[in-house]
This record gives sequence, structure tokens and C-alpha cells, in this order.
Amino acid sequence: MPDEMSRPLVPGWSESGGSRQLEASLSDPNTPTIGILGTGDFSRSLARRLVASGYQVVVGSRSPARSVALFPEEVEVSSQMEAATQADVVFVAVFPEHHSTLVTLKSALAGKTLVDVSNSLGINRDGPSNAEHLSNLFPDSFVVKGFNTLSAWTLQMGPRHGIRQVPLCGNSSKAKDLVKHICHRMGFIPVDMGFLSSSLEVENLPHHLFPSWRIPVLCMLCLFIFFYLYNFIQEVIHPLVKTGKGAFYKMPIEVVNASLPSVALVMLALVYLPGLFAAFIQLQWGTKYKRFPDWLDRWLTARKQFGLCSFLCAVTHAVYSLSLPLRKSARYKLSNMAYQQVKAGVEDSWNDEEVWRMELYVSAGIMALGLLSLLAVTSLPSVANTLNWREFTFIQSSLGFCALVTATAHTLIFGWNRAFAAARYPFYLPPSFVLVLILPCFVLCGRLALLLPCVAARLWKIRRGWERSRQIRFALPGEDCRNGVEDVSNV
Ligand code: NAP
Repeated sequence: MPDEMSRPLVPGWSESGGSRQLEASLSDPNTPTIGILGTGDFSRSLARRLVASGYQVVVGSRSPARSVALFPEEVEVSSQMEAATQADVVFVAVFPEHHSTLVTLKSALAGKTLVDVSNSLGINRDGPSNAEHLSNLFPDSFVVKGFNTLSAWTLQMGPRHGIRQVPLCGNSSKAKDLVKHICHRMGFIPVDMGFLSSSLEVENLPHHLFPSWRIPVLCMLCLFIFFYLYNFIQEVIHPLVKTGKGAFYKMPIEVVNASLPSVALVMLALVYLPGLFAAFIQLQWGTKYKRFPDWLDRWLTARKQFGLCSFLCAVTHAVYSLSLPLRKSARYKLSNMAYQQVKAGVEDSWNDEEVWRMELYVSAGIMALGLLSLLAVTSLPSVANTLNWREFTFIQSSLGFCALVTATAHTLIFGWNRAFAAARYPFYLPPSFVLVLILPCFVLCGRLALLLPCVAARLWKIRRGWERSRQIRFALPGEDCRNGVEDVSNV
């Protein structure tokens, strides 16, 4: 009877610790031998990952004897020529400046797939790309661009610990398929970016610094600076001019906390404003088959980032607000107020109106933050992928507008009747909450206008493909064209 305990717990692993899959693939004549030129950081990580994925790896070095200790023993380290001759697919893990030193390998690499993993020093807008340059140096090889978006660290750790997608491009579909297969087997997801002409774009990818966030973040910063200065003038400069007493202690918390909700609300309104513009433009044009202006296109695609910036400001505002009573200044003010009341003989300072204002305003704020959190969570790709289109638009559009309504209500209740008090207009400047309400109110009114049945019906028709300028008639089979009068009801 076979000894149960001698069986490995994990199927596929032999006693010696190596995997059967590895053994099988090494003996499989269809598994390509992978060559790597260069013995630097990238080469070492790549070699380890390839060996772990069951490939036979041969590394080509200018000085193999010096580099052999850097690689696991399963990896063969030899001269560049030997590696190029033995390998079926060759990764060029050498800086692009040194690509030309490899031309002596031209005949050995002819007919083989070369994977260019190189990155340029910065964004290269004019081309040619490193991969195109390599392809010119080796016209008889098939160059595939890829793996440059992975760091040596990601390769070493494996796909579970970082980026999984690997953009690839190349002119030979056979070579590209081969590299895609290798990529899959290493646990990454290849993303086909087309021909080698896309290699410039692929090379530039690691150099982009949050390109889709630039405008929303800039917008958030500009709004913050504006509201901060506005509140600074009202809260710090005005008392200084009026009483000669500066309230500079308000700068780090109070003025910041007065500015953050303003930015959050305006940013949230900016999420829904481009949708309104798009709807009104479509109504005006009477078609959806006309391109929006570029600025609107870009704005529409940046709505998620605007929303997340709004969420960031709202969360920070909530944290600041919770910390307000912890400050020494708040405690002094409270005890001074109590003392003044005792001095004035006031026994009960309870003010029903103030109490209600506060209860409602805090409640609306919490609700708005809750809805914004929901929007933020569902905008994460891993969560969004679990929702169908209807669920996603329901949350992002309908609940998003609910968030805008509650956030607007939060600001309106905060303002209450203060907007009508002359004391709230220092230097004849309206309070910031009045200023802030303009855009959200405009967006909400626009949304209400779009909900009017006549407008909504026309927009619905346009979004189903109806065009005002095209006299197309849909006739059901057997229906006659009557008197040449156009019936556009089904269009
Ligand atoms: P590295 O550590 O400097 O290694 C480069 C290797 O190129 C050297 O070890 C050297 O190996 C070889 N080489 C061949 N001919 C050469 C020559 N004429 N002059 C100098 N070296 C020569 O660089 P690396 O970080 O591994 O990067 C290699 C390539 O991968 C680069 O194109 C880089 O853009 C790309 N890449 C790197 C990373 C990363 O995280 N490191 C990420 C993405 C892409 P021998 O002396 O043994 O021949």
C-alpha cells in the first residue's frame, strides 16, 4: 500500500521542491528557450520570473564569468552570441544607448523574436521609439515592444503584488502571440496595443504622472486658494482692520475648514455640469452624432477625478470639523461665553432655532458624505466591474445628484438666515457659502429642466439615434408611404 504521508500536499510539486510543471515544460520541445541580453536588475528579475514560470532561460553577458553568481542555478549564463544562438525569443535588457553594440548578433538573431523592454529617459514626443530603432538595427528579427511598464521589483515579486497589465505591440502577429503567451504564463495580462508604431506611446507610459488627474487637481487647488484667500480676508483681515485685533490663529484650522466644503461642493457641481452642457448641446443640435468640442470631451472623461477630489475635500472637512472642539481657542471661547452669560444673568441660553439649524445641517452633511463615499467606492475599477451598466449609472448619476442635493442642502441650512445679515458682508463681500451655492443651484435647476417631459422625451429620442436634420422614415413591412408626408415618430 502506498504511503499516504509520502504524497506531496500540493499536487504538482515533487519531493525535491521543484514543480512538475517546470520539469514537464523544460522537457517540452514546444516551450521556447528564452534568452536575455544583459545581466542588470531587470534581467535578473525577469530571469527569476521566467524560471518560476517553467521556461528554460539563457542569459547573454559581455562577461559571463562575472555575472553567473547573480542568477539562480537553473539559469544558464553565457556569452551574448551563445545566448542569441540558443534562444528562440530574446529579451533585450540593455539600455537603448547600447543597442547598437549588439549588431554583431544580427545573424544569430535573424528570424527570431526580440522583446524590447527599454524605457527612454523622459517623454519622447517626436520618435522614433527605441523599439523602432532596434527594429531598424535588426531588420531580419521581429521586434515586440513590451514589459517596459513593469519594474524589476514587480517582476521579482510577481503579478500578485503590483501591476498586472502589460501593453505589447509589434508588427508580426506571430511574434506578438508568442510574447503574449509568455506574458500569460508569467501571470500577467497582455494588452495588445497594435503595431510597432504604437511603441512610442508604450514607451511613454511609465513617464506619465497621473495625466487624467492634472486638470481636476489643478482646479481643486485653484478653488482652494481662492476660497482660502476669500475666507482669510473675511475672518482674519476684516477683524484686524475693524478692531485692530488679528485673528491669525484661525489660519491653520478655521479658515481651512471654511474653504474645504466650498471646494468640495463646487467640485461636485463640476462633475455634473458637463453632462448638462452635453445634453443641452445635443438638444440644440438635434443629434448625438456630432462630436462635442474637445474641452467638453476632456471634461466629461475627467468627471470621476473631479468627484474623487470633491470626496477628498469633503472627508478632510469632516475630520477638521470633528477636531474643532478639541482646540484650546474653542475651549476659551466657550468658557468666556459662559462667564459672559452668568455676568449678564442669563440662565438658559437654549435657542430652539439654532438647535434645529445645527441638527439639520449636520445631518445633511453626514448624508452627503455617506453618498459621496458610495460614489467613490463604486468608482474603483474592482467594484465597478461587479456592477452592470444600469447599476453603475444609477449610483453615479441618480445617487450622485442626491449627493449634490444633500450637500447643497447642508450649505443652505448652514447659511440659514445669515445670508440676510448685514454683519455677514465684511468689505461688502458676500459670505463664502452664498458664493458657493451659485454653481450647484445652477446645475440642479438645469437637471430639473431636463426632467421636464417635453425636454426629456426629445433627449431620449436623440439618444436613441433620432436626428432632426435627417428625414429618415422607418416603415414597417407592408406599410405604404402615404402622400410623401414624413412620419418621424419612429425615427
Ligand atoms: P542595468 O542594471 O544597468 O543593466 C544593463 C545591462 O546591460 C548591464 O548589466 C550589462 O550586462 C548590459 N550591457 C550590454 N551591453 C552593454 C554596454 N555596451 N554597456 C553597458 N551595459 C551593457 O539596467 P537595468 O535596470 O537592468 O535596465 C535594462 C533595460 O531594462 C533598460 O533598457 C531599462 O530601460 C529597462 N527597464 C528597466 C527597469 C528596471 O526596473 N530596472 C524597468 C523597466 C525597463 P553585461 O555587462 O553582463 O553585458
